Amino acid sequence: MGKASRDKRDIYYRKAKEEGWRARSAFKLIQIDEEFNIFEGVKRVVDLCAAPGSWSQVLSRKLYLPAKLSPDSRDNDLPLIVAIDLQPMAPIEGVIQVQGDITNARTAEVVIRHFDGSKADLVVCDGAPDVTGLHDMDEFVQSQLILAGLTIVTHVLKEGGKFIAKIFRGKDTSLLYCQLKLFFPVVTFAKPKSSRNSSIEAFAVCENYSPPEGFNPKDLHRLLEKVGSPSGADDLDCSSGWLEGASKVYIPFLACGDLSGYDSDRSYPLPKDADGTYQSLDPVQPPIAPPYKRALEMKKASSHGVKELEKPSLDS
Ligand code: SAM
Repeated sequence: MGKASRDKRDIYYRKAKEEGWRARSAFKLIQIDEEFNIFEGVKRVVDLCAAPGSWSQVLSRKLYLPAKLSPDSRDNDLPLIVAIDLQPMAPIEGVIQVQGDITNARTAEVVIRHFDGSKADLVVCDGAPDVTGLHDMDEFVQSQLILAGLTIVTHVLKEGGKFIAKIFRGKDTSLLYCQLKLFFPVVTFAKPKSSRNSSIEAFAVCENYSPPEGFNPKDLHRLLEKVGSPSGADDLDCSSGWLEGASKVYIPFLACGDLSGYDSDRSYPLPKDADGTYQSLDPVQPPIAPPYKRALEMKKASSHGVKELEKPSLDS
C-alpha cells in the first residue's frame, strides 16, 4: 500500500504523523485516558513493551512535560517514566529506557531500582508478539505476555494503582478476566475508537490494585491456575469456578474515545494543498533496530546473488 493510500484508509495513521506520534497506537492510550482518567495523580509509571514509543510519548506529554514546564517544578519531584522493550528505541524526553524482556523475572528489579524502591502508580502494557494469523496461537502468546506483565505488576505496582494491558479477545477471555479480578476489584475491557473493529485487540483496564491478603508474588502462578482449568469453556464464575447458564460471568466491555470522532475502519478524503496535490508525511520516527531488519538484509543479499550472510553479532 502506498503512503498516500494508507493515509486515506487509515485516518489515525495520518493523524499520528501530523501530531508527531511515532505510532497510531498513541490514540488508543489517549482514548482510554479520556474514558478512565488513568493519568490522574500519577507520578511513577512503567511502560511495558514500549517500542517504538508512542505510548511513552503520550506519558511524556501528559505527565512529564507539564510538570517540568510548571513554574513550581522541582527536579527531584518530576514524574518518573520507565519504558521497557526487547527493541531499542530513540530517546524521549523524561523517559528512562530499559532494553529487556518482560518475561524475565529480573526486569521488575530493574524498574524498582529506577524508582528508588518506591512503587508505581500505573503500569501500561501494549505488548504484542509477532502475530502468526493462527488465532488460538496468537491469543495464547498474547496471554503469556499479559501474565508476564501481571508478574511485574505484583512487584512494582502500589496498592490502589492501575494496570492497562492489551488483550486479544478469544475463547479464554473470561478466564483472563477472572484472573485479573483476583487483583483488581474493577476490571473493564475497553475498545478505543482508534482500534479497528476488525482487530481482536482490546484493552483490560484494571483499577485499584488490591492483592489478596497475605499474597506473595512467588505464589502468582499457583493462584492463577486455581481460577479455572478447562481452557475453552466460556461459562465461568470468578469466585467459584466453572458454571452453567445464568451464573456465568459477564465481562464489562466498553467502547471508548469520542464516538462521533474518527472511525478507524473508514476512509477519509486527503487534505489537498493550494495547488491541489497531497503531500504525505514521513513516519515520525522509524524503528531504530526493527526485528525485520535482518530479513530485509537477507532479501537484499539474495537478490544480489550473495548465498549466505555472516552470522549476526550478539547485539544485532
Ligand atoms: N506501545 C508501543 C507504542 O505505542 O509505540 C507499541 C508496542 S508494539 C505493538 C509491541 C511491542 O512489544 C514491540 O515493540 C515488541 O518488541 C514488544 N515485546 C514483545 N514481547 C516482548 C517481551 N517479551 N519483552 C519486552 N517487549 C516485548
